[in-house]
Amino acid sequence: MEDIKLSRRQLLKMGSIALVAAPLVGLSTTASANQNAAVRAALHFQNKPNGAKRCGVCMNFLPKADLNKSGCKLYPGDDEICQNCYCNGFVQKAG
Ligand code: SF4
Repeated sequence: MEDIKLSRRQLLKMGSIALVAAPLVGLSTTASANQNAAVRAALHFQNKPNGAKRCGVCMNFLPKADLNKSGCKLYPGDDEICQNCYCNGFVQKAG
């Protein structure tokens, strides 16, 4: 009987941990892969450069520590813009 009580306590404890951890897992998944599909389609986004034209030399590029998971002024909420990607919103950076 004592073993059964311990098991129930252990299960309750594990359940509590799972309840707290589950939303955090969901957040981390959401935070790691945000793409603005509507703007990508509208501006014909591609994961490769167009000749010398690429995000890394575009004035709309918003570089982050990981240049392949950066942002763009034209893509609200999108954090998957890479330095060698391209779209029709390209504007050559001065200099
Ligand atoms: S406008 Fe297009 S080419 Fe320029 S940084 Fe944004 S996604 Fe890249």
